[in-house]
Parts: sequence; C-alpha cells; structure tokens
Amino acid sequence: MLLSDSIISIKNIGEERSKKLQKLNIFTINDLIEYFPRDYDDRSNVCKIKDIELNKINTVKGKVISKPETIKIKHLSITKIRIDDGSGFLEIAWFNQPYLKNTIKYKSEYIFTGKVIQKYGRTQMEAPDYELIDDKELLSNGRIVPVYASTYKFSQKLFREVISQTLSSVKDQITEFLPQDILKENNLCSRQFAIENIHFPKDNKSFFIARNRLVFEELFLLQTKLLQIKGIMEHKECNINIKNTDITPIKNVLPFNLTDAQESVLKDIIYDLGKNKAMNRLIQGDVGSGKTVIAQILAYISVNNGYQVAIMAPTDVLASQHFESFKNIFEKLNIKCVFLSGNQKAKEKRENYELIQTGEAKIVVGTHAIIQDKVIFNNLGVVITDEQHRFGVKQREILSKKGENPHTLVMTATPIPRTLALILYGDLDISIIDKLPPGRQKIDTIFVNSTYYPRIYNFLKKNSDEKRQSYIICPMIEENEKMELKAVLSYTQKLKEEVFLGYNVECIHGKMKTNEKQEIMNKFYNGDIDILISTTVIEVGINVPNSTIMVIENAERFGISQLHQLRGRVGRGSDKSYCILISDSKSKQSKQRLETMVKYSDGFVLSEKDLELRGTGDFFGTRQHGIPDMKIANLYKDIEILKQVQKASIKLYKQDPLLLDNKNKPLKEKIDQFFNTLDNTVSL
Ligand code: ADP
Ligand code: MG
Repeated sequence: MLLSDSIISIKNIGEERSKKLQKLNIFTINDLIEYFPRDYDDRSNVCKIKDIELNKINTVKGKVISKPETIKIKHLSITKIRIDDGSGFLEIAWFNQPYLKNTIKYKSEYIFTGKVIQKYGRTQMEAPDYELIDDKELLSNGRIVPVYASTYKFSQKLFREVISQTLSSVKDQITEFLPQDILKENNLCSRQFAIENIHFPKDNKSFFIARNRLVFEELFLLQTKLLQIKGIMEHKECNINIKNTDITPIKNVLPFNLTDAQESVLKDIIYDLGKNKAMNRLIQGDVGSGKTVIAQILAYISVNNGYQVAIMAPTDVLASQHFESFKNIFEKLNIKCVFLSGNQKAKEKRENYELIQTGEAKIVVGTHAIIQDKVIFNNLGVVITDEQHRFGVKQREILSKKGENPHTLVMTATPIPRTLALILYGDLDISIIDKLPPGRQKIDTIFVNSTYYPRIYNFLKKNSDEKRQSYIICPMIEENEKMELKAVLSYTQKLKEEVFLGYNVECIHGKMKTNEKQEIMNKFYNGDIDILISTTVIEVGINVPNSTIMVIENAERFGISQLHQLRGRVGRGSDKSYCILISDSKSKQSKQRLETMVKYSDGFVLSEKDLELRGTGDFFGTRQHGIPDMKIANLYKDIEILKQVQKASIKLYKQDPLLLDNKNKPLKEKIDQFFNTLDNTVSL
C-alpha cells in the first residue's frame, strides 16, 4: 500500500465506505492520515471500580464475570454484564444493541468508558465504549483518544481503527520533507512521530510536540509558497504601459479632497505603475477610511492610458453599490462603465459581454460573474478586488489571467496585525490608510442589557424624527435557521405594529432573493426606510451616510472583527453616530469582548486586542472565525509558531528562493502538491 494509493486499498474500505470518505475530501491513503482529529478525549485515567465517581464519565478495566444477557421491556432491549477489577464489581448496561450479547465475551477482559449513574439504588455504567484487552494497541480507551470532526456515519471507533491500521502499514513511508537545519533550529520532531502522535498521542507532551510540528509545517508551506509567488511576480515582465499618471481631471470631479493617508497610498500605487513589473498591492484601510476613491483613481489612470479595468466585489449588493458610485464619477468624465452580475438576464449579459470584448466598456464592475469564461476583455490593464478575504487565491488568479499580467489591487477593510498580514497576504505589498476622512466624529459605543429596550426604542424614534436612519442587527445561527428566521420576521412584525407605529420599518435577511434584497437596500439608500432590521446580511462595505445608529442584539454572538465591521456602517457622514451593543450574556469572555468594543475604535488596535483575547485558553475544540480554515493551525492561537515560521521561511527564501538546492527538493515537491490542493474555498 502506497501513500498515493486510493483508500479503496484499505482492508475494511469498500466502494460504499470509500464514497463516504470522499465526502470528507479523503481520496488517498495520504489524505486519510492527514485527516487530523478535531478534538481529543482524555481517557488515560483508568480508575478502580471502588473509586468511581458517580454521574461522571469513568474509564474502568475489568473481567466480564457474568454471561451477557439481553432482556426486553416493551420496545427497549437492555443488554447487561457484570465486571470485576479486583477492587469491586460494576454492572454495565447497553440499550437497544442486542447484538452485543454475542460480541462481548464472557470471562474476557475489557476496558470501558462511560457515564456511571445510580438508579433505583443500583450503580450502573451506561452504554459505554468498550474495547477488548488483547495484545493489540488500545485505541478508544485507556489513553488520550482522538475525536474526528465529521465521520459520515462511520463510528468514531471504526474511524480510529481504520486510521490506526492504515498508519501501521504506511508508517515507514512517512518521510521528512523539511530540511534538517530547519527541524533543528525550530526544535521540531520528525514527521513520522508527528503524524502518529497527532492521531494517537502517547501522552499530553507527545501531543503538543506533534501538534507543534504539524502547525509549523502547515504554516511554513503556505508562507514559503506566498514568498515564492511574490518573488515570481516581482520578476515577471509587465507589458502594460502606464505613461500618463495625471489625475487632475478626476480630482476635479470628486466631491472632496483626498486625505493625506489617501494621497500616500496613491503615491505607492503610482510608484508601482511606473516600474515595468505588475503591481500586486493590498490596501488595508479601516471601515470608512475611503478606499473606493483610490480604486476609482487607479481605474481612471488605467483607462486614460488605454486599458480596461475590472472591479470585483464579493456580493451583488456591494458590487452594485460600487457600480453606482463609479458611474457617478465616470459619467462626468465620459468613460463607460458596465455592471455584470449572475442575476442579470441573458440578453443583458450578452450585450455587456459585447461591450467588454469590443473595448467600448472601459470599466467593468461586478461579482464573480466577471470571472466567467464568457467574459473576454479587450485590453485589461488593472484588476481590483474589494473585500479580498472573501475571494480565493484561485479566483484572483483567474481574474488576472484575463489580461496579460495586469496590475492588481486588493482592498480589504479587515485590519489585521502585521504577522497575520504576512501569511494572509504574503504575496502582496501592503499599503495602509491609517486616518479617516475629516469631520468624522467618534462613534459612541455603549454596552447594555435587555432592560434598556424601552430607552433604546425611544432613541431610535427620536433619530427617525430627525430624519436619520438606524440599523437593528439580529444575528442568526445556522443550526436553526428556519426558527431563527421566523423569530426575526415576527420580531419585525412586533416592532412595526407595537413599537414603531408610523415609522418605516423593514427587514432584510439572507434567505431573500437578490432582487428583493436589492429593492430593500435601494429604499434604504433613498431614505425611505427609517429602521432597517437585518440579520448579518448587512454587508461589509455598505455605505449609507445618513444612518447613525447601529443596534446589535445578542451582541455576544459576534466576534470583534464582525462587530467592528457592523459598527462601521454608521459614522459615515458628519452626524454624531452611536453603536448600541445589547447582551445578557454572563460569559466573562463575551463581556470582555464587548467592553473592548466600547473602549477602542481603531480597527488595528481592535485586531491586536482580538488576537490577545483569543490567544488565551486551550487548544482543544476551538474553532476560528473570519480567517481561512487550516487543517490544524489556528492563526489566532498559534501566533508564536507563526512568528517562528516567518523567520525560518524568510531565511530559507533568501538562501534558495526557488528551492533548487538538492536538500530542499522534498520541500519543493511538498509545496507544489500542497498548493494544488488549496481549492477555491480556502480564501486567502
Ligand atoms: P471604505 O474604505 O470603507 O470602502 P468608502 O470608500 O466607502 O470607505 O468611503 C466612506 C465614505 O467616506 C464615503 O461616503 C466617501 O464618499 C467618503 N470619503 C472618502 N474619502 C473622503 C475624503 N477624502 N474626504 C471626505 N469624505 C471622503
Ligand atoms: Mg468599501
């Protein structure tokens, strides 16, 4: 059996089971052994029967001293045994698993993990995991036990067996690909040790050693690849010839002067355009810092030099908002913009394709629709993507390929600490807009509990009376979308009929059709809605300067970066704005998060605080949000490893940028393979 073989060559895996595994993206033996546990159960503490703790999960080891028997009570079948471990006896019962009568062997020794309860004066272990004690390694009991995320109806037990069995037969093929000096300098264990112990850790320490190595490896592959991409881009010739960078005409039609921060970013861009290499730049700017106008000026320069421009936004609402804003400016300059969206009628699309292909349309704004095969540009010079974190590296690549190595500009409103930026956007140069446009007042943020509703409602009414608008955000969680949606709709109804009589209240949510959403948003833009109740479809990037109050209900459900994005929807005009966080949560962490929001308003500071708050706690069973899903690394918690990785990866890159040295050959192969498996869902 080879690592590259299909999983079907595993003994217990036939057609049917292999199909299930494929749903988990497990196709080869290698995929299987790199399917790491999501969590662990510490069952290493085997206790004596006399020391059992009631109402807790216990692990005991004992000999079966009664023949298993199954009794039936109505629809319930109960299979029972008694065991003895020298310190006492224990009764064990399973429900509706009558076959166990023939599986559990009388007089054999087993290990059991299950909850022990007392019922009608009898002490019983209920429905435990069991494992025969023989000369085979224990997998599910008496040790730290792996728990796999999703197993598609495979029991955890079977999954463990399959992994263990596979591991033992391919163990010797797990070879090292990290160069020796990197292993040494960073104190990393061998790959073989790591893979074995991530699945079946010998003890706590081995787990941490294994995890450390695998996190390092994952981040290192990614970081090194990004450095390579950056290096390659920096060396690639670019034939897009931007000679004229006079921007006076567009500045003359803009309704405001650029801030110093905007000017400085623009300087970076114009500098890039002057080299004969393609620009690959990321603009990081806090919400409302004015990134759009930078995109517009860049678009102007491109068009003025005879090249088309593509601007891609992640959602219809955002794309059409951009389109309106571009159209407003470029109409005045007699430059044609078109809009592309998946929801357009076939005829409209065809007409647009035509305009793009002939080069009549100079600026194309749209969603993913822009990267369709049918869209053929005449002479694409600049590609701009907004809110990059929602697009994949692949999508960015496809869009770039529509031109001949065009200049690319990426805009994101998610401020992130430098260390993270280097791994999320390691292939890009970074410019930061670090000041907001003038005249903005600080958004007052308050954190209250639900006893404040009456006052909040009055505050919203007063705001509407003064012809300003407000948002109320009600979060939905996916598990029970239907119920939540119902709750949001009936809440809207209640607010309309009982609280905000005579005001225009509307609801927008993720289950609406695109054109319904668009219609509501248009009404909101036009000021025809006083209070917009929304689930989180209020997109990052929505710009309605007349809205000044953001109420966030169940605020504990959001992370800092989301709260910051939501808060950024207000305070966009010159009027004083407020953000009201409502939460009854008792959790210390949630409170801390919300208090942090009250205290700080700068996105970059918040992102650092966020990192600190999330960095505490243990590794087991935690998930990260808002940043790409990695196999094992957690960018929030593994920041120390990430720093180590960045040092090592930069050092290596300086020595051997293309990994041509013989000692780096296995690493090069692994990186190529690793990058091929990054699909569109991994957004970087
Ligand atoms: P974001 O960076 O979040 O995308 P936008 O580009 O949407 O921000 O800009 C937010 C608001 O600030 C818009 O209403 C825009 O017209 C305004 N704005 C941008 N730059 C300036 C400026 N230099 N002076 C005044 N207002 C500005
Ligand atoms: Mg924006």
